[in-house]
Amino acid sequence: MIKFLDLHKINERFRKEIDEKIKEVLDSGWYLLGNQDKAFEKNFADYCGVKHCIGCANGLEALTLIIRAYGFSKGDEIIVPANTYIASILAISENGCTPVLVEPDINTYNINPDLIEEKITEKTRAIMVVHLYGQAVQMEKIWQIAKKHNLKIIEDSAQAHGAVYQGKRTGNLSDASGFSFYPGKNLGCMGDGGAVTTNDDELAQKIRALANYGSHKKYCNLYKGLNSRLDEIQAAILDVKLPHLDMDNEKRRQIAKYYRENIKNPKLILPEAYDEKAHVWHVFAVRTKDRDGFQQYLTQNEIQTIIHYPTPPHKQEAYKEWNNLSFPITEEIHNTIISIPISPVMTDTEIQQVVEVLNGYN
Ligand SMILES: *Cc1c(COP(=O)(O)O)cnc(C)c1O
Repeated sequence: MIKFLDLHKINERFRKEIDEKIKEVLDSGWYLLGNQDKAFEKNFADYCGVKHCIGCANGLEALTLIIRAYGFSKGDEIIVPANTYIASILAISENGCTPVLVEPDINTYNINPDLIEEKITEKTRAIMVVHLYGQAVQMEKIWQIAKKHNLKIIEDSAQAHGAVYQGKRTGNLSDASGFSFYPGKNLGCMGDGGAVTTNDDELAQKIRALANYGSHKKYCNLYKGLNSRLDEIQAAILDVKLPHLDMDNEKRRQIAKYYRENIKNPKLILPEAYDEKAHVWHVFAVRTKDRDGFQQYLTQNEIQTIIHYPTPPHKQEAYKEWNNLSFPITEEIHNTIISIPISPVMTDTEIQQVVEVLNGYN
């Protein structure tokens, strides 16, 4: 079986360094908000090209913290793509704000900038963009809209560590960005982890406090915060893996290129990249009419797949109030999409086998 993602193999490459780092943390007797956290935050901020990085517990809370820090709450609207992982939308709901869904572009799967302005009302406070599947959103038009209407832009960069748009990396394309280091992401730890990046000094300070019970100083609480911290062991592991992120992303690009050049099957629609550097191929998602039949065929041929995602947020039970809304492009994507294996540890034989099996589908 060709695994969708072999996490053990991915992390095994750094086994020795990770073992040593974990031992270092154990020996230090200090497990939260210490030197490992500081070092990783500095290195990840430098990597993204921003002034501040604040580690937190996971990607969902990174986004939640940003919205809370801006003070957006009940009655405020935040624009978000209808075609995203549910966490982007949960972060908005969690703060009592209203998510306003916008259809994606069928070619990039990212939010369609031409459909944003018609959704803006006097209650709109922010636009959340999601760099879905690893492809940086084309921000130019969104920057203009945000400026014109005085809105904040928040990036959900959970799938796109290292993707580049106009010479800048994700995490540095907006007012503030949320990252996830869930094990399966392009930069993943061995448990849960997340971070916020921003160039805004005041916002960074506030988020740091909010993530630590709303406290800048022990037992002195300025805000109603939460407990959302990146622990020392996860920070240490991430700091070992970060220097290899660009190499891993490059390997993903090479596989994606090989797939796009060699998979030739009229029944499959392959993903596009508007710019090679803009895409870090967190997933390689193809579309096909009889998706479930195709998935079965791949399983029979020893290729593991995952569907990102089978049900759009507006059709989820959790958002019953939206179940009657119609987002045809989002629904079309959810009904036809399927992700095939892509990862920095795939062998050439595996990559070729995937191509052969996909070309043999009829
Ligand atoms: C993974 C993911 C998140 C959530 O990150 P967690 O660390 O799992 O909370 C948010 N948004 C997107 C687009 C994701 O892929």
